[in-house]
Amino acid sequence: MWHRRVTRRDMKTTRSDELLTSARAVIPGGVNSPVRAFAAVEGDPPFIAMGEGVHLEDADGNRYVDLVGSWGPLILGHAHPEVHAAVVEAASKGASFGAPTEGEVRFAEELCAAHPCLEQVRLCSSGTEATMHALRLARGATGRDVIVKLDGCYHGAHDSVLVAAGSGVATFARPGSPGIPAAVSALTRTAPFNDLAAVAAHLSRGDVAAVILEPVAGNMGCIPPEPGYLEGLRTLTREAGTLLVVDEVMTGFRLARGGACERFDIDADLVTLGKIVGGGFPLAAFGGRREVMSQLSPAGPVYQAGTLSGNPVAVAAGRATLGLLDDALYARLEDLGARLEARLRPEVEKRGQSMSRLGSMFTVFFRPERPTHFDQVKECDLAAFGRFHREALIRGVYLPPSQFEAAFLPALLCDDQVDAAADALVEALDIALRPVDGPRGA
Ligand SMILES: *Cc1c(COP(=O)(O)O)cnc(C)c1O
Repeated sequence: MWHRRVTRRDMKTTRSDELLTSARAVIPGGVNSPVRAFAAVEGDPPFIAMGEGVHLEDADGNRYVDLVGSWGPLILGHAHPEVHAAVVEAASKGASFGAPTEGEVRFAEELCAAHPCLEQVRLCSSGTEATMHALRLARGATGRDVIVKLDGCYHGAHDSVLVAAGSGVATFARPGSPGIPAAVSALTRTAPFNDLAAVAAHLSRGDVAAVILEPVAGNMGCIPPEPGYLEGLRTLTREAGTLLVVDEVMTGFRLARGGACERFDIDADLVTLGKIVGGGFPLAAFGGRREVMSQLSPAGPVYQAGTLSGNPVAVAAGRATLGLLDDALYARLEDLGARLEARLRPEVEKRGQSMSRLGSMFTVFFRPERPTHFDQVKECDLAAFGRFHREALIRGVYLPPSQFEAAFLPALLCDDQVDAAADALVEALDIALRPVDGPRGA
């Protein structure tokens, strides 16, 4: 079948096309993380040359308002002057020591002060590591092997959690992944999001070490918890002697300084953080009650380690970022989200689709009713989403290239930019929903 690449501004071969061809020769699929390939929206990705504030610029000089923010970390936009200065200063003193530094102590203090569920934290380098280590700790601390995860929640790319995961795994329509031993996935049981009875049934067997979840799902599009759901999970897990692991890699410092746990008043046993905490650098953390965390090596028997854990440059970026996230910033993010929603939601609904938004996270779903769990997201018109994404890109709005991902507003957007982005998305929606029985735009 003849496939014409849809270019962003014109039909000639672009620098991004050339780079993609070169990339595919030496990198599987041309990308270092699957969703970046734009396969789910039947497009080819622009290669990014630079970011500046709320904008991205690609290798062909096209500029976009960036509503991905590196998949969540860049709450302050690109190359924020204070973050940049902190990084340069840290890097000038040496990139890595593999030895304790003052910065990581201060950072741990700041994380514990900010998040209501943290008495102790340990730093690592990615969200994947954070959930992997937190789950091992939960298993070690409880002496149990089984994990319960929720369909459509994504906790990184390690074996125990690549079962009914959202994000890239859902984008590529695979139930899990070859290479994960059946003996490993048998220890992970799944339940639908927003369904307490299904979790209760798993817990009744008395062998569950941890329930892990995204408190507000963002890896199947933005899906907030139904009222009472998080409180219900807390009660059920406590009664079962199971640890509640709240994965705040996306929601931490996004929905509030203290993440979803602050926003919804949840008392987690273990919390994972990533994305925003590294200010765009590879840094993540997991932590919780002292009693549980003290089981970690060298204080306790559960092993965990990392050569670059607490990397001084990443810690400097994280500290500079968190230092700028005050109450005024979260109030501004809420205003921005509400402004976008007020302009976009009526138009989306008028066109028979739905939208979900919490704080600065949002998703337009190609489905008449707002989904509350993963099976409903899978019913969305993914082809229409692909057209929507492509038309948004042409209009200078860079959205995550999958129906199964949340978009993020950066705090430094101004009102005019939000309005312009909303208007561009409405135009894109109109084209996406046009009947497609002839060659479009021919
Ligand atoms: C992004 C994400 C992860 C994985 O983090 P990486 O840094 O990509 O390994 C884990 N959990 C959630 C909720 C995420 O959004």
